[in-house]
Amino acid sequence: MKKLSYGRQWVNDDDIAEVVRVLHGDWLTMGPTVEAFEKKLAEYVGMKYAITFSSGTSALHGAMNAAGLHEGDYAVTTALTFVATSNSVLYTGAVPLFADIDPDTLCLDVKKAEALAKKYPGKIKAIVPVSFAGYPLDIKSYRKIANENNAVLIEDASHALSRDRAEFADMMTLSFHPVKHITTAEGGAVLTNKDEYAEKLLRFRNHGTQQKEMIELGYNYRLSEIHCALGLSQMNRLDEFIARRRELAALYLEQLSGVENIKLPPSDKKHVWHIFALQVENNLRDGLAEYLRNNGINPMTHYKPVPLQPYYREKFGYNSGDFPEAEKYYAQEISLPLYPLLENNDVKRVTECIKNFMIKERI
Ligand SMILES: *Cc1c(COP(=O)(O)O)cnc(C)c1O
Repeated sequence: MKKLSYGRQWVNDDDIAEVVRVLHGDWLTMGPTVEAFEKKLAEYVGMKYAITFSSGTSALHGAMNAAGLHEGDYAVTTALTFVATSNSVLYTGAVPLFADIDPDTLCLDVKKAEALAKKYPGKIKAIVPVSFAGYPLDIKSYRKIANENNAVLIEDASHALSRDRAEFADMMTLSFHPVKHITTAEGGAVLTNKDEYAEKLLRFRNHGTQQKEMIELGYNYRLSEIHCALGLSQMNRLDEFIARRRELAALYLEQLSGVENIKLPPSDKKHVWHIFALQVENNLRDGLAEYLRNNGINPMTHYKPVPLQPYYREKFGYNSGDFPEAEKYYAQEISLPLYPLLENNDVKRVTECIKNFMIKERI
């Protein structure tokens, strides 16, 4: 039986040929392929600059630095995200503040974020929403909070590389981890329309140097020519990847509609479906996960609310019950296999498996 995991890359012979071509060439790092990949990313998303980084996490660190975060500052973000979103705030010496999710979008609740920011007048330097699962979040609603606080708006778009945005954050970060929309193995980028941020990002990823002088403490966060060759080649198929993810998500939605104990994810025509995440009601999530695993299907859980991670609990004193919506979601969530190489029959196998489990539970 074919094993199915929740996500995986699609690297083809063209991608491999491009990587090999770079390996035979003059530059393995800091050469023309980095620039070509950055240009293609910026054009695709529709922003002026794309600056690549060694990972999505270092891209976030770069964005927080460019936003000017320091010790004594705060950034507001969502409780439901990968730890890298708020860890990048901590790297600068600033402190992340978490607001709960809006259960209708699974993204940072605008009203709760606004109320939280009000408690720290003059101290909020960044508002950091996450387009969870690929949901097209309403940038305008967060822009208002950023303006009220004179803060920088940074979208963690690790789940949502797309060309569909009408409105942009001040900076938008991407990840090219193998489960994301395109991969460079490890890698990330920050996109921006502002010259000032682009200059700071370039400097920060290259030891804080500018015209051979070190201006600030930076890092080596560069992405190599080899990684960028893979990314550049993957960009040729990004529209196809997204179209296929949308087809598969539509098939899941159709096959699972009306199934007992299942709550389907929020859907939207601009959704780019990084993950297909269900909620399983009546305490059946763990049982279903085990049943799927016994049938060769490996689901995943996204995410334990970050403030309830042991490190954050200990450092900041967060407790169970502080983020009721995110906690409820986490207790019920299961991510099903979703990636462009998945076949329609694979989706049917997964949904049949879910239906069989629910029938078994009824008796
Ligand atoms: C993948 C991801 C990142 C970055 O992860 P890297 O593995 O460092 O590329 C950041 N935030 C979110 C929400 C992610 O899913």
